[in-house]
Amino acid sequence: MLKENLENVRKEISASVGKAGRKGTDVTLIAVSKTKSADMIKEVYDQGVRDFGENRVQEIIEKYPLLPDDIRWHLIGHLQTNKVKYIIDKVAMIHSVDSLKLAEEISRQAQKKNVTMDILIEVNVAAEESKFGVSCDDAIELAEKISTLPGIRLRGYMTVAPFVTDPEENRAVFARLRQLLVDTEAKNIDNVTMDCLSMGMSGDYTVAIEEGATFIRVGTKIFGGR
Ligand SMILES: *Cc1c(COP(=O)(O)O)cnc(C)c1O
Repeated sequence: MLKENLENVRKEISASVGKAGRKGTDVTLIAVSKTKSADMIKEVYDQGVRDFGENRVQEIIEKYPLLPDDIRWHLIGHLQTNKVKYIIDKVAMIHSVDSLKLAEEISRQAQKKNVTMDILIEVNVAAEESKFGVSCDDAIELAEKISTLPGIRLRGYMTVAPFVTDPEENRAVFARLRQLLVDTEAKNIDNVTMDCLSMGMSGDYTVAIEEGATFIRVGTKIFGGR
């Protein structure tokens, strides 16, 4: 079942990439495996997926030793400052940086472990009260501040778009995040090349790809409901 689900997702990705005139290699599928077992993750891994997303530090710590070490783990959920030290040498990218304080702690821990951590700034594009992330208005200023921190490579922006039944409803949200990336690049911040957009989930990744997503985070459509 997981294999078929994945095949369907991959077909849809190809179709959207083609429609947008982009290359398949421009979009990385992150299989969001939160609440799912190591066995299920291994099944998807065996189909060639190497990028997996988790939203809780505890789950990454538990699953990490059970699975192959060429998996790239992506932390996509809210991260508390005091937990950075547990995952700093385990994850490939932190998608959910929403404050200077958190970025400073990532910088500190990265230097301690002699690693450079790729991060994205989480932006609450639709300004939903229930969601984490900085506003579009504050994003560039935060990017400028983070750019000076050692041990961190700021790569772009991430957003969790509103829950919708028709993906078209989120097209403007995705376009806004892409424009924010363009505007930030135009500032020519020293030492920063921002080329990543993490946007699109099970319900709307096709539209996100059309609007420039470089990472899509797909859980339910691969692993089933939670
Ligand atoms: C759970 C989660 C996803 C995946 O959601 P699905 O709708 O199951 O595809 C993507 N991004 C974040 C931040 C999540 O927490």
